[in-house]
This record gives sequence, structure tokens and C-alpha cells, in this order.
Amino acid sequence: MAGDIFVDGWKATPYWWDLAPRPEWPEISIPDQVDVAIVGSGYAGMSCALHLARAGRNVLILEAKEPGHGASSRSGGMAGSGLKLSYTDLKAKYGRQAAVDMIHETERSLEFFEEFLAGEQIQCQYQKVGRFIGAHAPSDYEAMARRIEEVKAEVGIDTGYMIPRSEQHSEIKTDVYHGGQVRLAGGGLHPAVYHQEFLERVKAAGVPIAAYSPVTGISREGSSFSVTTTRGTVKAKHVAVMTNGYTPAAAQDLRRRLVPVGSYIIATEDLGEERITELFPNHRMIADTKNILYYYRPSPDRKRVIFGGRAKTRDVETAESGRILHQFMCGIFPELQDVKVTHSWTGNVAFAFDKLPHTGERHGIHYALACNGSGVVKQTYLGMKAALKIMGDPEGKTAFDQLEFTTIPFYDGNPWFLPIVQRWYQWQDARAR
Ligand SMILES: Cc1cc2nc3c(=O)[nH]c(=O)nc-3n(C[C@H](O)[C@H](O)[C@H](O)COP(=O)(O)OP(=O)(O)OC[C@H]3O[C@@H](n4cnc5c(N)ncnc54)[C@H](O)[C@@H]3O)c2cc1C
Repeated sequence: MAGDIFVDGWKATPYWWDLAPRPEWPEISIPDQVDVAIVGSGYAGMSCALHLARAGRNVLILEAKEPGHGASSRSGGMAGSGLKLSYTDLKAKYGRQAAVDMIHETERSLEFFEEFLAGEQIQCQYQKVGRFIGAHAPSDYEAMARRIEEVKAEVGIDTGYMIPRSEQHSEIKTDVYHGGQVRLAGGGLHPAVYHQEFLERVKAAGVPIAAYSPVTGISREGSSFSVTTTRGTVKAKHVAVMTNGYTPAAAQDLRRRLVPVGSYIIATEDLGEERITELFPNHRMIADTKNILYYYRPSPDRKRVIFGGRAKTRDVETAESGRILHQFMCGIFPELQDVKVTHSWTGNVAFAFDKLPHTGERHGIHYALACNGSGVVKQTYLGMKAALKIMGDPEGKTAFDQLEFTTIPFYDGNPWFLPIVQRWYQWQDARAR
């Protein structure tokens, strides 16, 4: 029964949309010709558009639904600089210099992001509270401690400090972790307010957004492109695909390089600031070291728990995912057993097969794709980098450009193998404890 853990009238839409309702968007006609057609109106598409428009390019954003319908208005709002692969893993796979460069690039992405928020005066409840990463197993604790030292010595960056299990309650009121790492960089924001404010800047820069205009085809015509939507066709000198976990068949060559994964998330009822501060004494963003991780945080007003993860190996309805996530949350905080859920929602992230971000150009089509679960900062940054690339500016180069954007034979973008891979990860997580 859904009723047991849900409040009456619970919503299957993001908690964030209560404060930042979906924008009502006027229907605009599709122009005949633009310099750059951008597909997708999340952080990546808007960032690309804003930088191009301010540099004098004639830009059009094409969006399948209302602006920001994708992950950008649905996320956990945790803003950080981390990559899915550690420096140690990167070094083993790509060599020391490439690994150092990638870590520096992600650090720059957070610097850029914070400067962007400040420079644009974007008020999105950004709080620089840092992050606590709970060690799922004692060996994870040791590995994190080693990595902090390794990154300090070889990359010259201080990524934080360790908190042993005996002192864990200074960070989080749970005993499930074997200690953890505090990262002071980054923090949390209200993702839909960020999108809304960003959208205002994009509008002010004169970028038209054709909403409810799904792109159905992209074809090359000489040195330019013809981009077809359900509402008309536009010719563009350049095309940028910024659709991440929603990448359509119209961009099949990119779609087959991405694994879309549904991420699920809930918001609890108002617990009051005092109770939230007991659970999260420093109000940090929280993640853990599991393969199938939980990510959670206090809401920006510090009154609710926002708790996310992959609810099941297959995609499920938000009533079911809400119940599962509530159970996961109570595994961390048993005292929340009687606390009810007000919102349960979902959205898509996109993984690359190498779990790293990708930006560049394939067959003339630009892209910034594969957030690998963390895109608030990175997609904002890589969208800007894609804009520079489109303008031929060497500053558009990133440390990720040298990565091959691989796929696997016969994969068409439908991740049928996900339940199998996820079971394998779950088994590894269970074994690690
Ligand atoms: C539940 C959840 C929690 C998350 N939590 C975090 C977090 O805490 N921290 C973090 O850093 N990241 C988080 N992420 C990831 C982050 O939200 C994304 O990486 C980021 O928002 C991606 O931005 P984007 O612009 O690349 O894509 P999106 O915001 O997904 O935008 C893609 C857009 O493309 C549009 N589109 C699709 N097909 C077409 C078409 N045919 N024509 C035109 N438009 C089309 C979609 O409608 C969509 O609006 C989370 C994601 C989810 C789903």
C-alpha cells in the first residue's frame, strides 16, 4: 500500500517544482536558419547557448518538452568536482599526466561554476557545505585515506580529510559507515531554482527556445545541417546535442555511446531544522562508496531529507521507488521509520562506457554528454566548453577530449543489460562489507 509511508496527496513530481514550477512557455515558430541549433535545454544546452549568444552567434535551443524537463530540474542538487573514477584508477588506465590533467579539469569546473553563479548573481540557495562520503567497507576507508595523500602529493590538490568511525556522528547520525571522507569543496543548491534563474539569463541574452519541439532528425547538407523537429525544420551551420540521459534516436551515433539510467529520489515531510541538524550536524551533502550508491542531503531550508538512489535493478513506478528509498533511508537513519514521504520522483542520468565525461565533435555534431550521475557542475562547465569549441576557440579544449567515446557491438542505446550489471554491482557491494 502506498498510503503507509506517503502523506495524503503526495506528489510524483520533484519536490523542487513546488518552489520552481515548470515554466509556461510561449510557442515560437522554428526559424529557417541559425548559426547553431542546440538540442536540449538542461544546464549543458543553456550554458552552450548563453556563451554563444553573448559572443554574437545566432542560436536556437530545441527542446522536446518544457525548458528544463530533463535531469536539470530533478537532481539532488549536490554540486561537486568529483569524477566517477578516482585519481588512482585514472592513472592506472590513462597514465599519470592524463590523470593529473583530468583532476585539474574537474577542479576548474567547480571554480568556473562558482564564479558563474556569483558573476550572474544566480540566487539558487547554493550553500558551500562540502560533502561527506561514507565508507561502505573498512577497505574503502583505507583506500580513501590513501587517495587523499596520493592526490596531495602527485596532483597538488587537497581533497579533504578522513573522519574515523568513532567520530562519525560529528558528520552524520548513523553507524552504518566505517568512517568516511570530508570534502570541503562544493556544496548543495536548489536545482530547479538554478535552472529557472539560468533560463532567465539565457532569455535575457536573446536565445529563443522552441519548446515542445522534439528533434526527430539531423542530417548533413554540405557544410551545414538540417535539423528536423515535429514543428518544423531549421538549417544550422553547427549542431550541438545536449540531451544526456534523454538522447534520442535522432542522434543515434551518440545515443549508442550512452547508457541512460533512471535515478530515483524522495523528499520527506518537514522534520524541523533542529531534527535535521541532529542527523546532518554540518548540513553536508552525503554519498557513499558503494557501486550502487545512495546520495542524500538536507533540503536547502534544512527541514527535510532528500534521499536518492537506484531503487531497483529495473525501472519502477514512483510509488514503488518511494517505498524502497524510504526503506533505504531508514537503514541509514532508523529513527525516521515513522517519517512520511511527500514527493517521489525520477529522472535519467547517462553513463559513458568509461564512466567519464565526454565533449567534442563526431561527424560534425558537437556534444557535451555522459554526466555519469554528477552533472550540476560539469554539464554547466562542459556546455560552455562546447560553445568555445564551436567558435574555434582553443580555450574550448578539455582534458577529456583525448578520450575515445566508445560503445559496444550491437548496442543501440537501449540498456537491456542494466539489471544484470546492477546485480553484479549489488553482489560486489554486499561482499565488500
Ligand atoms: C534523480 C537525479 C538526481 C541527480 N542528482 C545529482 C546531484 O545531486 N548532483 C549532480 O551533480 N548531478 C545530479 N544528477 C545529474 C544531473 O542532474 C545531470 O547530469 C544534469 O542535469 C544533466 O544536464 P544536461 O543539460 O546534460 O541534460 P538534461 O538536463 O537531462 O537535459 C536534456 C534535455 O534534452 C531534452 N531532449 C531529449 N530529447 C530531445 C529531442 N529529441 N529534442 C529536443 N530535446 C530533447 C530533454 O527533454 C531534456 O530537457 C542527478 C540526476 C537525476 C536524474
